Amino acid sequence: MKKTYESYKEHLLKIAHLNSTLALLSWDQEIYMPPKGAQVRARQFSTLSAMVHELSVDPEFEKLVYHLIHKSSFGFKEMRNLQETQESILQNKKLPTTFVKKGAMARSEAFQTWEQARKEEDFKVFAPALTKIVALEREKADLLGFKGHPYDALLNLYEKDLTVVKLEKVFTQIKNDIVPLVKAISEKEQVDDSFLYQVYDKEDQFEFSLGLLREMKYDFNSGRQDISTHPFTINFNANDVRVTTRVNKNDIAEVIWSTIHEGGHGLYEQGLPSNNYGLPSGEYVSLGIHESQSRVWENNIGRAKHWWNYLYPKLQSVFPNQLGEVALDTFYRAVNKVQPSLIRTSADELTYHIHVLIRYEIEKSLMEGEVEIVDLEELWNSKYQEYLGVTPSKPSEGVLQDIHWSHGSLGYFPTYSLGSLYAAQFYAQAEKDILGLPLQLESGNVDAFLKLMRKNIHQHGKLYTAEQLCEKFTGEPLNIAHFVKYAKEKYRGIYGV
Ligand SMILES: [Zn+2]
Repeated sequence: MKKTYESYKEHLLKIAHLNSTLALLSWDQEIYMPPKGAQVRARQFSTLSAMVHELSVDPEFEKLVYHLIHKSSFGFKEMRNLQETQESILQNKKLPTTFVKKGAMARSEAFQTWEQARKEEDFKVFAPALTKIVALEREKADLLGFKGHPYDALLNLYEKDLTVVKLEKVFTQIKNDIVPLVKAISEKEQVDDSFLYQVYDKEDQFEFSLGLLREMKYDFNSGRQDISTHPFTINFNANDVRVTTRVNKNDIAEVIWSTIHEGGHGLYEQGLPSNNYGLPSGEYVSLGIHESQSRVWENNIGRAKHWWNYLYPKLQSVFPNQLGEVALDTFYRAVNKVQPSLIRTSADELTYHIHVLIRYEIEKSLMEGEVEIVDLEELWNSKYQEYLGVTPSKPSEGVLQDIHWSHGSLGYFPTYSLGSLYAAQFYAQAEKDILGLPLQLESGNVDAFLKLMRKNIHQHGKLYTAEQLCEKFTGEPLNIAHFVKYAKEKYRGIYGV
């Protein structure tokens, strides 16, 4: 390996090609692959993943990165790339191969028993595998190291520099401001959203959703949309970013907000600098920021009346029998209905944070060893009763609803909340930076908004951390006050609280 920046880039490009191929195989598995293809596909995954791992921990590559960082002088961008690569090499080295293998086996067992437990509606079926997962996650935290709380080590895997101390502040404010707001709303007269649940032709829905993506300026020459059970965005490179959506014959809201959400993720990936493919500067910065880009479209733009002034007549013309007589204001209230419920993924934008808060509290106690797995179902149910006033009648509506723990992804959930909080802060900044933003949205013009996101978020890749990006763009670190203000104003208008 020549000791040049060029050979560093070439090595990373090899890894990127393999990762993009893995991504394409998994996209195909979700969208097109016939059932019998699964067996060989699993082996293809494991062969390619092993090649990625080998390239990532190649001692020659490690030497090269060390040499370049210490023996050469580079500009800011090159140094940031090298530093990020060095960090991920060090992180990989902290987890010995035996530990990684043990983890893979535990996850495969956990996923199977999680599915079985859901079918049998019996948490006890999943409990032994989850016990192993939690023990491994605690071991992982020790191996990775942490300064404050062991949970910090795991949080860092998804959101660099995130700590329990920072999250405590966020979730305390959610408890103080959002929980009472939800309670106040539940004492008001509920809005009528029954017209959303009529029969809507599925093909017309899909056509409309393609139109929505075009309105968002999602680039179909660098992407496409398909249908899947769980909507997702997948990136092969910035010029090939694919999204999926979900179509439900009896619920027009599902397709609309799944499409806008994934479209927001897709715009971020399409906006990454394509000539930095394979380098950290060509990759998304963190899960929290990724989610901010989906949520800002889904909620701050996509559930506000401005944009619907423009979109609603289009929707009405596709579904005149279902919506012809429904006024815009009625539609607006219905799609912003707040109601405590059991399932996180279908929660409204307020109660969503309470679902995340519950998972955060549970994961933190698990990392502290404060709670036994056998008591988890009871703990889950009591927290739902305490915070949301609802109790699951079966585990699939409660402690078994999320796939995350079976994947060993402790520390992931908080990034969902961070995403919405960042989104509110970015949108508030956009209102300051763009003259007449609401008026632009009313005429369907999203260009200035997208340009602002491209300039302040997308184009930077990993050159700055999430916290630095937020400060550079908005002049302050993450501040939940923006979300609280947004929520209070919006729901005062809808519910009079
Ligand atoms: Zn998302």
